Amino acid sequence: MAHVSDLISTDIEQYLKAHENKGLLRFITCGSVDDGKSTLIGRLLYESKMLFEDQLSAIEADSKKYGTQGDEIDFALLVDGLAAEREQGITIDVAYRFFSTDQRKYIVADTPGHEQYTRNMVTGASTADAAILMVDARKGILIQTRRHSYLMSLIGIRNIVVAINKMDLVDYSEAVFNRIREEYRAFARQIGFEDVTFIPMSAFKGDNITTLSERMPWYQGTALMPHLEAVELDDERLQRSAFRMPVQWVNRPNLDFRGFAGSIASGVIRPGDAIRVQPSGKTSTVARIVTHDGDLEQAVAGQSITLTLADEVDISRGDVISRIDAPAETADQFEASLVWMHEEALLPGRRYLMKIGTNTVTAQVSEIKYQVNVNTLEHLAAKQLELNAIGVCNLSLDRAIAFDAYADNQDTGGFILIDRLTNNTVGAGMLRFALRRSQNIHMQHVDVDKAARAQAKSQKACVLWFTGLSGSGKSTIANLVEKKLHARGQHTYLLDGDNVRHGLNRDLGFTDADRVENIRRVGEVAKLMVDAGLIVLSAFISPFCSERSMARDLVADGEFLEIFVDTPLSVAEERDPKGLYKKARRGELKNFTGIDSAYEVPEAAEIRIDTTVLDADAAAERIIGELIECGILQN
Ligand code: ADP
Repeated sequence: MAHVSDLISTDIEQYLKAHENKGLLRFITCGSVDDGKSTLIGRLLYESKMLFEDQLSAIEADSKKYGTQGDEIDFALLVDGLAAEREQGITIDVAYRFFSTDQRKYIVADTPGHEQYTRNMVTGASTADAAILMVDARKGILIQTRRHSYLMSLIGIRNIVVAINKMDLVDYSEAVFNRIREEYRAFARQIGFEDVTFIPMSAFKGDNITTLSERMPWYQGTALMPHLEAVELDDERLQRSAFRMPVQWVNRPNLDFRGFAGSIASGVIRPGDAIRVQPSGKTSTVARIVTHDGDLEQAVAGQSITLTLADEVDISRGDVISRIDAPAETADQFEASLVWMHEEALLPGRRYLMKIGTNTVTAQVSEIKYQVNVNTLEHLAAKQLELNAIGVCNLSLDRAIAFDAYADNQDTGGFILIDRLTNNTVGAGMLRFALRRSQNIHMQHVDVDKAARAQAKSQKACVLWFTGLSGSGKSTIANLVEKKLHARGQHTYLLDGDNVRHGLNRDLGFTDADRVENIRRVGEVAKLMVDAGLIVLSAFISPFCSERSMARDLVADGEFLEIFVDTPLSVAEERDPKGLYKKARRGELKNFTGIDSAYEVPEAAEIRIDTTVLDADAAAERIIGELIECGILQN
């Protein structure tokens, strides 16, 4: 077995210790198919002697079978491990590889370059200290190079190496290198890259990888490995930034000890430092820095610690502890960049869980300002973001959080969005800045409240939310229920889908994005009417679980009754009271629920009405009965 160190056989303890104390550099390689990424990584593993002999003989054999390099070793085969990739000749998923030198440990993320794998690239790059952009010297800067560069700038990678590869195939020409460098520099200025290193190389022949190549005496810089050995690690840089510790959990083993545990995102902290807890703004002083190995006099970015404070301060998971002299910002509305990572598009108005640091809040995209064409950097208008799309959006949260702009701190400014129903990660984003309007809008206190208004009407306010296919009977039944309530002297209002679309929602169509916005507005109106003390009936197809649960969450517990008007599609289509199914079947009506747009069946509706069993009047009676049962109506 070939390996970098004899210590492995002579003194394993010593070997492990030396490894433990080495800095770790994470980097990502990007480029298009055939630029030589896999060859470069294979070469780095080989040069750092991290290949085992049995692996070496396996690639030698494979090189003969699949390789593209004649009789020489094809390092790409080592790296393109998946059989599927080999056969198609492309790299599909993010592959992480580890190697080490005497100075450092390395983790390299090898990501596929195609546009449909943008999300993989973002995932692979999210923790990288450096990026190597591979450029084929024969082809120069391609659209892919620009796209990858834009992504790296979006993710905020500070150290960029443009590896101008395959120099052996252009006779190691200085003129070719200079031309590509100048072209890239002009582009780099557009996306705000300041510090770019250009290295001419041949990963295949090993030129300028570990040592400077004699074949390019005109190159005055460093070879790739020595460059990587010297790149500043993010951990080192972060120690110079303002102190931030997102609180992971409150450690309270007994009444005498109360500590706040977390991993330091940036900066330095010492006992005696004055701190501010955010978003609450409360202040105190650090009493102790507790760790498994005893108390510390100082702790820095990357360390996991428990802080105790001089005062009793109310702190919970998700809060951020800052030093008092340089606190984070707090806000509940932001402009953010967003990379969409799911097959189901981002819909403005839909509520997602947002994880930022150790905090989880509910977030809505209130507006997509524009989508970025990642190939040309043009801004495009967009109503939704599809898989792999990148956009700039306004975000609105259900409560204020402590944060930093992503450009200043990736831990307190970077976030992911999670689907509330499936728990899938659907997007990744970077906070740009707080919207000023969020700082200027406060809830106004009013003395006459919901309870007072409802009491004046001698009733309990609530929302009766009818959902079901078109023609299922929502409007018919809701209308009968309202008549019966009215006859009982109740104060009601019926919000009907078609009626609302004539006024408030006149600007909306029937795409998924517009349906979400339709229900968001109706939910807000229903909430205002409940506030006014009314019994609100709403009759909307409301096809998605997500928006129905949003409408539910807008009012208090017990104030929302979901009524699923359960009529099979065949029956609703047979009734077809407005002739809409016939139109849809003729293809004259797009996005019609049940035909070419989904209806998600409610799983926990309070009331389910089977209209094949109950006629409309009986259904209305049944609902009145349920309202008496749950105490909304008196008997
Ligand atoms: P939606 O509001 O759900 O689109 P509508 O109430 O406008 O549906 O239309 C439902 C149609 O079905 C009406 O023409 C109604 O008379 C008819 N219908 C037949 N049986 C029932 C029933 N059991 N409940 C409600 N409506 C029924």
